[in-house]
Amino acid sequence: MGKPSEKSLERVERMVTNFCEKSGTFRHPDPKITEGVVLGLAANLDELGRPLCPCRFYPDKKEEVKHRTWICPCDDMNVYKYCHCLLFCTPEGLPVTEHLPADHEGRGTWGEVKDPTPEKGRALKHKAEEREAERIARKS
Ligand code: SF4
Repeated sequence: MGKPSEKSLERVERMVTNFCEKSGTFRHPDPKITEGVVLGLAANLDELGRPLCPCRFYPDKKEEVKHRTWICPCDDMNVYKYCHCLLFCTPEGLPVTEHLPADHEGRGTWGEVKDPTPEKGRALKHKAEEREAERIARKS
């Protein structure tokens, strides 16, 4: 994978700064973690025209970008405030897991991590039931 274009890198950087502010989340304390995710998002932006989450496997990326599920900031972020890539974290560099369903993999990995700014973010929290139904359908 070659280096992403400056234009895409700048666009993703701007999105991360703005979304941290909007959602009440923070960049990871280790800048290398953020840098890796930003590079992946910018590469997908160059390749696909959308910042598809770089931390997942897709059988067909071109098909995947037709849905908004894993376009950053993804549905998990907008519904549960959960970022499994650690791009949007607590100040300690943990993913917020408080709003996830109890049996979600994020809870299993990280335990319960409280949301330090519950008054911010979760613009799609009204879609939690719908999102949960999708997750269960994927597992079966
Ligand atoms: S998990 Fe969601 S919010 Fe986090 S980097 Fe991937 S798409 Fe963005």
